[in-house]
Amino acid sequence: MPQSSSATGGKMRKLLVLASLILGVFGRKTFEGHQVLRITAVNDVQISLLKNLTDHEYLELDFWREPVHESLPVDVHVPSTSLHKVKSFLKNNKIHYEIMIQDLQDLLDDEHQEMMRFRAHQPRSTNEFNYATYHTLSEIYSFIDMLVKENPQLVSKIMIGQSYEGRPLNVLKFSTGPNRPGIWIDTGIHSREWVTQACGTWFAKTIADSYNRDPALAAILNKFDIFLEIVVNPDGFQFTHTSDRMWRKTRKPNPGSRCVGVDPNRNWDANFGGPGSSNNPCDNNYHGPSAHSESEVKAIVDFVKSHGNLKAFVSIHSFSQFLLYPYGYTTTPCRDQAELHNLAWKAVTALSRPYGTRYRFGSVINVIYQASGGTIDWTYNQGIKYSYAFELRDTGRFGFALPANQIVPTAKETWLALMVIMGHTKNNTY
Ligand SMILES: [Zn+2]
Repeated sequence: MPQSSSATGGKMRKLLVLASLILGVFGRKTFEGHQVLRITAVNDVQISLLKNLTDHEYLELDFWREPVHESLPVDVHVPSTSLHKVKSFLKNNKIHYEIMIQDLQDLLDDEHQEMMRFRAHQPRSTNEFNYATYHTLSEIYSFIDMLVKENPQLVSKIMIGQSYEGRPLNVLKFSTGPNRPGIWIDTGIHSREWVTQACGTWFAKTIADSYNRDPALAAILNKFDIFLEIVVNPDGFQFTHTSDRMWRKTRKPNPGSRCVGVDPNRNWDANFGGPGSSNNPCDNNYHGPSAHSESEVKAIVDFVKSHGNLKAFVSIHSFSQFLLYPYGYTTTPCRDQAELHNLAWKAVTALSRPYGTRYRFGSVINVIYQASGGTIDWTYNQGIKYSYAFELRDTGRFGFALPANQIVPTAKETWLALMVIMGHTKNNTY
């Protein structure tokens, strides 16, 4: 039916109002009225009902923790427009849920205010850098340059490639001598997991400062180089600051789709495209057009291969409080399962000491779910025995919106686990 011009004008106004609501005053997507629900399924039927929910794209559900089996709660971020439908669906099917986050935007407003409090003060050194708040990409890049400048004997910056949007993929190299085997640590492969990049800066400062003070770290650095990539996915990270705080993927457009980005933790050549990854570009776990299609992943692949002598590889995510080892794509235990399991136990025991934080540990497929194309499956199959993934704090009270006052405690406890893994790697590499 033809529309009168006033009707079209009204429609336009409505669209504009909608657009401004979505982007907010600063061009950021708003999460006003969005909730995070914790759903507890009690049987397979309820799990498959929840899995079916994921197919309804119009609901725009963002699963923070996917429905897998009854032992793990499902956390789902629901836009305000879908809340009524989702809650009715759960009630009608007698599926239990509770509200974990009443209004996501409230938490993000707090986070933003906290960041702004320190914005006026530009740190002139890594001592002045505030490790207890979240930082922008440019602040982290500056931090990296300051650290290198302050510790020229120990720290250097290497660029292993460029992101899709042309940003440098910077890796910090901590080295006390030539031709050493290497230990790799990365944070921020999923951009919205902000506590990980924040911990990355704390780790970098700690390595630089502790070399002369901590004999255990000195022993590691006298045998190994440590490589630390703090922002694996800089395009995504920038996007979480400017546009959508809940962005997880890369920012490469997908030809033929309106949806952007690939899940960089499903993009590795380890049963690529298999179960636990999606071939739908609109999904948060879209595996991409081909293995290593993402330049952010390819850069690490090329680095690992050209280095040729990495002995440990630790990839850090949030949230859930898990320490994981291979495999994700198969239930067949990896060859070193017994050793990796025992070491994981020692690491989470050390981690729990300062604050009592409890971690679960095991293979990816046993602890979380089947996932194909994951980082540590690929690195393990490359021969890097000590391949681990962390899921840092918390267990879902705040999820990806972890308050900044938990950054330093999270970094401190995680560092103890990293020291256990690195120490074991040192003692078992000949
Ligand atoms: Zn992640």
